[in-house]
Amino acid sequence: MISEEELTKLSYPEAPKIITAKVPGPKGQKIYDMSLKFQTPTRVGGMGLPFVWEEARGATAKDPDGNIVINMTGGIAVNNVGQCHPKVVAAIREQAGKVMHTIDMVSVVNEKLSERVSQIMPKGLRGNCVTAYAASGSGAVETAVKYVRFITKKTQIVAFHGSYHGVWGWSNAMTCGDHYRQGWGPLAPYIIHAPYPYYYRWPLKVASEAECGEEAADYLDYLLNTPYTGAHDVAAVIVEPVEGEGGYVIPPAGFLKRVQESCRKNGCLFVVDEVQAGFGRTGKMWSCEWDDVEPDMMVWGKGVGGDQAITGVTFRRDLAEKLQPLTQPLTFTANGVSCAAALANIDIMTDENDDLMGRASIVGEEIMKKLRDAAEKSENIGEVRGRGFMIGVELVEDKKTKEPVPSMAVVKLMWMMRDRGVLAFPCGRYTNVMRFMPALVCTREHFDKSVDIFLDILSSQTWRQG
Ligand code: PMP
Repeated sequence: MISEEELTKLSYPEAPKIITAKVPGPKGQKIYDMSLKFQTPTRVGGMGLPFVWEEARGATAKDPDGNIVINMTGGIAVNNVGQCHPKVVAAIREQAGKVMHTIDMVSVVNEKLSERVSQIMPKGLRGNCVTAYAASGSGAVETAVKYVRFITKKTQIVAFHGSYHGVWGWSNAMTCGDHYRQGWGPLAPYIIHAPYPYYYRWPLKVASEAECGEEAADYLDYLLNTPYTGAHDVAAVIVEPVEGEGGYVIPPAGFLKRVQESCRKNGCLFVVDEVQAGFGRTGKMWSCEWDDVEPDMMVWGKGVGGDQAITGVTFRRDLAEKLQPLTQPLTFTANGVSCAAALANIDIMTDENDDLMGRASIVGEEIMKKLRDAAEKSENIGEVRGRGFMIGVELVEDKKTKEPVPSMAVVKLMWMMRDRGVLAFPCGRYTNVMRFMPALVCTREHFDKSVDIFLDILSSQTWRQG
């Protein structure tokens, strides 16, 4: 397993180091103010967390004033091997001098990546699949919706409460959350949402987490059978094996398997969205592998390309035979540089000597234990949950009522963390889940320090109801 000493070299070891009176400092603030003039206000990152990037390394980043922060956002689960990893930078440099844009024609590097992607897929797809590339998770989800409809000749898509699949057409309609939906209508029709087994906030009385999973699975099975949904017309069920934007919700063991069974029984395709939880983040290559399922189709993104934008939909070869050739021209897919970066990322992630995924499981457990110990003493930590380096801390005003802390309080917390040198972004139904999802190369020391800063700020706030 890669040593802490080796990992230290990939980041700025001195992080966090804040040297200006406030963040952004004077140089950063000037640039930030200009961005408000020249960039769209709909950006979530840029508007939500003022910080100006000049350089990034591993799990840390530097701003133009020389402030160095620890990056607990991991680029929203993108920089799984860390930012500007020397092997990725070398691969990009080499490929940039060879070929980059090839429309969607075959290049040496994009075919190499396609074969490599096939090798790292979960059971059911591994060695028996084809890939359609895109340049964002949203784009890949749009392609998945078109494909499942064309393949099955059915229309409806079942997604889940709390899901996030993107902000374009179909993907926006599948994404939950008022702030992503309100005012953008009419959203695309024929999308049905089923309950996700979120035990902490499950509204029905159940005796255990396992029962919550069973209940959610029973309800999905009902939806796929009842004439009220036009069950004969469901093309696919699309599920996040761990809900990301919905609050880092891990479904009870066996739930995904039941989703798969229902899909098989009812003649619709079983699609997993691994955009956020995939590519090693949870300690396995794909988070659906925790439940040993065999998806018909998988959407992937974020971490695979890491510092370069490349995403895809990978699906069984027999399904590809049902598609009409020459019907989906896409100008910017599988750019040579993105493919080279993805290949380097896969090499790093699958390096058995480094074992980044095994390490993420071990260190992730240690961090969660620390957070759970703190939760016992804190009035505001309702639940700590996660897997590997995908950890969420659900913040509540009152542990009994589970009333979420106001979202503005979380924004304040986030800004206070930044001021002390830690970048982190919340998620969740009520934007009340602080997430810790740094690069898998984040040192124990950096992870520990970030959690200490978070807990210290949290204990200085009073959010108790009444
Ligand atoms: N699916 C999931 C599970 C995601 O978390 C996201 C992004 N947060 C997307 C799809 C959309 O990806 P992108 O932002 O690259 O369009």
